[in-house]
Amino acid sequence: MIQKSNAVVQVDRSLLQKNFQTLSQFLDNQTRIMAVVKADAYGHGAVEVAKALDPHVGAFAVNAIQEGIELREHDITKPILVFEVPQQALATQYRIHNLTATISSREHFEWVPNGTSYHLNFDTGMGRLGFQPIEAEEIAALVEDRGELFCTGIYSHFATAHEPGSAFVAEQHKLFKEIRSHFPENLAAHIANTGGTAFYDTNQFNMVRLGIGLYGYAPGEVAIEGLEPILSWRTHLAQVKAIQKEQTVSYGAEWEAPGEGYLGILPIGYSDGLKRNLTGKIPVRINGKEYEAVGTITMNYSMIYLGEDYYETGTEVELLYPESTAYDWAQKLKTIPYEILTSIDPRIPRKYVN
Ligand SMILES: *Cc1c(COP(=O)(O)O)cnc(C)c1O
Repeated sequence: MIQKSNAVVQVDRSLLQKNFQTLSQFLDNQTRIMAVVKADAYGHGAVEVAKALDPHVGAFAVNAIQEGIELREHDITKPILVFEVPQQALATQYRIHNLTATISSREHFEWVPNGTSYHLNFDTGMGRLGFQPIEAEEIAALVEDRGELFCTGIYSHFATAHEPGSAFVAEQHKLFKEIRSHFPENLAAHIANTGGTAFYDTNQFNMVRLGIGLYGYAPGEVAIEGLEPILSWRTHLAQVKAIQKEQTVSYGAEWEAPGEGYLGILPIGYSDGLKRNLTGKIPVRINGKEYEAVGTITMNYSMIYLGEDYYETGTEVELLYPESTAYDWAQKLKTIPYEILTSIDPRIPRKYVN
């Protein structure tokens, strides 16, 4: 993959550790953390995030099997759970790379070769992958029958834990507890994500799967005190030019300069992850001063109005920073920070500090 030079995404490892500590305060005594590093650690870079967390966590989770292989190739030692449905063509890779498969349907027992480790996934209400709760007893028997495979865990996923006080979380939890009772005590058992861990007092079994909280965001509207975004994103002024009053900017010619001043051109557009619908809705920051992004965001460029302030070409411009985060962008777009973070072009270099 090429590396672009139009911007830098910076990831602060010390904040990652701090978020880890903050979330650890919500854990029951026997609970270990499975760090969720799918989608390249939500855009932060899975290898570096996993390296920083490897000494501290009980396990990792990825979605695609290739993501798991990448971690193994970079010497990540902890168990790695692969969420995705096993693919027959790749099924030998679990054992070769010591990855844990997810079995969520009866046919999967046939697709993975002997010697493969796996966790069972039950659908207690997410309505996505997983066995139905009513199948628990039969699946427990199947686990016994298929003794050449190694069942090391059992899990489920909350649908509504991103906000506190959901009765549906309690229902799912109760179902999972019942399912769990059909399986050996020594299995890893996990249902809670960041929301389930931070917002609910219910039993965590012996593991929680934490994603968004590690990256410094709460999963919904309710904040989790002490978390700080670990990612910042900056670019530079590609060009600065004088603009006349009422001169229009960008496609549609919709934005008009309110007066004579300077226009800054940023080499960042929607293909970089600066979503087009953010047009006119977000600030950017230069030397501590905020400016408005104006005119339609284009594929590779966006514009900012500098008024009377002139800056040299190459001056640093902050896009995501502590006072304007992926949460703020998500609010403007009626989406969630997960989507903002995972939309940042992976070809923009990630830089790790601390
Ligand atoms: C993404 C994911 C998580 C992590 O959720 P967060 O809200 O980011 O903590 C946990 N479990 C499963 C199955 C997931 O897909």
